[in-house]
Amino acid sequence: MTPDEFRRHGHQVIDWIAAYQEKIESYPVRSQVAPGEVLDALPQSPPETGEGFEGVLADLDRVLMPGITHWQHPSFFAYFPANASGPAILGDLLSSGLGVQGMLWATSPACTELETRVVDWLAQLLGLPEAFRGNGVIQDSASSASLVAVVAALHRAGGGKPGRDGIEARYTIYTSSHTHSSLEKTARICGIGAAAVRVVDVDPQTLAMDPARLETMIAQDRAAGAVPLLVCATVGTTSTTAVDPVPEIGAVCRRNSAWLHVDAAYAGVAAVCPELRWLNDGLAQYADSYVTNPHKWMLTNFDCTALWVADRAPLVGALSVLPEYLRNQATASGEVIDYRDWQIPLGRRFRALKLWSVIRWYGAQGLREHIRSGIGLAQQLAGWIEADAAFHLHPHHPLGLVCFRPLWPQLPDAEADAATLRIMQRLNDSGELYLTHTKAGGRVLLRMAIGAPGTEQRHVRGAWDRIAAAVRTEAAP
Ligand SMILES: *Cc1c(COP(=O)(O)O)cnc(C)c1O
Repeated sequence: MTPDEFRRHGHQVIDWIAAYQEKIESYPVRSQVAPGEVLDALPQSPPETGEGFEGVLADLDRVLMPGITHWQHPSFFAYFPANASGPAILGDLLSSGLGVQGMLWATSPACTELETRVVDWLAQLLGLPEAFRGNGVIQDSASSASLVAVVAALHRAGGGKPGRDGIEARYTIYTSSHTHSSLEKTARICGIGAAAVRVVDVDPQTLAMDPARLETMIAQDRAAGAVPLLVCATVGTTSTTAVDPVPEIGAVCRRNSAWLHVDAAYAGVAAVCPELRWLNDGLAQYADSYVTNPHKWMLTNFDCTALWVADRAPLVGALSVLPEYLRNQATASGEVIDYRDWQIPLGRRFRALKLWSVIRWYGAQGLREHIRSGIGLAQQLAGWIEADAAFHLHPHHPLGLVCFRPLWPQLPDAEADAATLRIMQRLNDSGELYLTHTKAGGRVLLRMAIGAPGTEQRHVRGAWDRIAAAVRTEAAP
């Protein structure tokens, strides 16, 4: 593709995306295709000769769009938001255009230094501890960041021996029953094993980890010869945005020389608003590592996870391996950061460009407005639910997620839960909105996560009216 051809098709692509943004509400929120439908519509074999680009756009419309779930749709309330925004898309496009592989400072100094600066901007925007400044890195996902944190914790616990050779300690990791599944996956990947992941009870009301229970479990495990490696505290659980008591958990970690990893994948970015800085409680005193995802609720296209550590030595110590073919003067001088030493893969994309575009376009004020608008809508929704006698509202909803369930007063619990899932299915099949569910205290809860950039009050009200009507229709004899 010549630069001239690129220009022509590039304009078509940008026009296509802009038109998509304009008409996104005309699509069903959740894709309505059956398994295999998209696959069957695609040719079995690749073309022998090049076909040009028009066909790609035509098939995007004809074959792929029916199989797309519209995450940016203003009535998308499932999972957590995965915000896209104009400046992030353009920043990502520039990164693709440059085609830089930023594994070392020497492979593109600007790729490394922009990342250092922009992750530091983010630490300032969120009011994160001084110790994190200069110690941040962009990862592809919170899951990878948690894996990196555990690897760094292993390095520190093993006395800083690269490769952990000869270390035979039986390590344990502590999570709550609401911790993200990525921690168990990490334990499996690291060879610590899923059985070494000890699940601490939560407070039945707040669903937050019980620090007294944590301390007891650690004491029992130590008595049995285990070494408490790491505790993962979550600020904003995926299930219900429960907030683990980080200061109390941190104190337990300190007493037991365990690494404190704080997972604020969804909620952390909300600290851009000064009134939500309580989300950072305990970080400055206790956190060894901290992760949040601009790619969820901060207008930055997937993938963009920010990971900070209070001390970079165990992280870099665990992950740097220097083969001959990567040796270079800059690395040898010790004056530069090579971010390949801060992550699992060697290669890395120039992700800082899109985060930089987002922060410069919106400014701190614009980012705050986005978070506040999502929270404001969530609080309105919570008010409507609370006022409706046919529903139970989960009382904890400080951010953009509201959890609730229909009461179904005539039905035993199991049948009531089945009825809740049935109406959710029916609503999602309608294409008018998309919500998901969770389980807490043994009961099914519906989750409505508000935070798509285009969501306005009319979308939330419309969704709520549909949910309430669906419950009344189902309950009618
Ligand atoms: C979404 C989420 C994750 C996983 O994030 P990825 O970036 O998709 O790996 C981890 N922890 C919490 C609390 C989350 O909400």
